[in-house]
Amino acid sequence: MKLIINDNSYDIDEKITNLLDAFIFIKENLNNSLAFDYGCKSGVCGSCAIRVNGVEKLACTSNFACDDKVLPLNNLPVVKDLIFDNSAVIETLKKSNGFLENCTNGKIFPNDVDKIEIESSCILCSSCYSSCPVYSVNGDFLGPFALTRVYRYLSDSKELVSKNKLDAIQLNGIWDCTLCGACNLVCPQSIDIKGDILKLQNLSVQNGYENPLFSSFNNSFGNFDSDFGGGFNPNGF
Ligand code: SF4
Ligand code: SF4
Repeated sequence: MKLIINDNSYDIDEKITNLLDAFIFIKENLNNSLAFDYGCKSGVCGSCAIRVNGVEKLACTSNFACDDKVLPLNNLPVVKDLIFDNSAVIETLKKSNGFLENCTNGKIFPNDVDKIEIESSCILCSSCYSSCPVYSVNGDFLGPFALTRVYRYLSDSKELVSKNKLDAIQLNGIWDCTLCGACNLVCPQSIDIKGDILKLQNLSVQNGYENPLFSSFNNSFGNFDSDFGGGFNPNGF
């Protein structure tokens, strides 16, 4: 069966169906310079994320078909072949305060854990950054993983600090997301990243923050009174 990696075509032993096994077969039999990453071989460590026919997948949990085309993740610097550098993604965590800042000594109950269980299952694979159309044009965008992480810690009953986190996600954060859902489609942990960003937008409004796009829209009516000789009446009378 033929597999194409970065424009190089490889004939893989017919008995091999798993993508990571195919990479290992190539390395051992066809091209020992092929560079790829992997760790746990069971979908837990997130190291082996790649794109197959343009869609982000974990190599260790994916099978392949003849003539499938494999490329490294998008939007991240490629170190060699299928290995990418995700240090910029890790940096977004620091910028967004997506971590435990000030921990309570109080008791934690099972339903506290349930509330953050799905978001806590993120395996740092970076697939969501590869699929995100906003991150592809704005490298300063905090991005899907950092934002879902902020939601996780804002929902964590151990965390005593919330203002820092909400402050940190206003610029190049929640309001820049187009809510396209591309990140949801590729997340191997089925985290509802788009839903979390929407909840962060609601939480921000409830806490007095404003979508900067709406502020600039309102500002465009700045001379309304003087131009039209009267106050703007939202009720139309
Ligand atoms: S929903 Fe938002 S964060 Fe997710 S891919 Fe789309 S723009 Fe990016
Ligand atoms: S949120 Fe999902 S896609 Fe993004 S890094 Fe975590 S596990 Fe990977």
